[in-house]
Amino acid sequence: CGIVGYVGGQSALDVVIAGLKRLEYRGYDSAGVAVLADGSMAAAKKAGKLVNLEKELDARPLPTGSAGIGHTRWATHGGPTDANAHPHLDNAGRVAVVHNGIIENFASLREELAGRGHTLESETDTEVVSHLLAESFSSCGDLAEAMRLVCRRLEGAFTLVAVHADQPDVVVGARRNSPLVVGVGEGEAFLASDVAAFIDHTRSAVELGQDQVVELRRDGVTVTDFDGAPADVRAYHVDWDA
Ligand code: GLU
Repeated sequence: CGIVGYVGGQSALDVVIAGLKRLEYRGYDSAGVAVLADGSMAAAKKAGKLVNLEKELDARPLPTGSAGIGHTRWATHGGPTDANAHPHLDNAGRVAVVHNGIIENFASLREELAGRGHTLESETDTEVVSHLLAESFSSCGDLAEAMRLVCRRLEGAFTLVAVHADQPDVVVGARRNSPLVVGVGEGEAFLASDVAAFIDHTRSAVELGQDQVVELRRDGVTVTDFDGAPADVRAYHVDWDA
């Protein structure tokens, strides 16, 4: 239901949690975060309100990290449990994905992945994406390219945001029939399903177009279509008061 991503010099965990709070008004049944720190991935997720996730983070703190993603879930496939909450990781725990929307062809993708030895740990439509991204990343070594390859195989409506432990300064997003906005700051960049999530940090925003992939780095953002053709990045100024 709500998505936040961040890369930059602030604590990614703090920025992501604050962003999720700004999206709470949309309603949700679970919440989770993943951060990259020192080449490794750390994640936490909990059914229920954000306060449950915050309690979990107090009990088992995550490293703060320089890149992170967060999600508030409104369950469509699989009940509102801790296991079904996002982010979803691949079996090696190197990729984390959050998703809004529905992957219509998830059942055939699950079968295909199971046939190649993947173990799926949730009942969601989303989890296929983390496993597919892990496979594509191991052949191309680039998360944005892996995202493009995977998106071409997905049917349905989705906003996807992902991180990979091998690219600790990159956050990648993609969208089809579901919103995703990029916030461009000084030495930092944001992604969210709604500008409200990052309005405290920057008012320079880029609306992602249909069937586009964005790569966020501290020094800027790159947008392409699902085939890799570069797209124009035109920032606008968000002038409303959040
Ligand atoms: N279909 C996904 C799920 O059930 C995402 C739901 C959402 O948009 O929050 O986990």
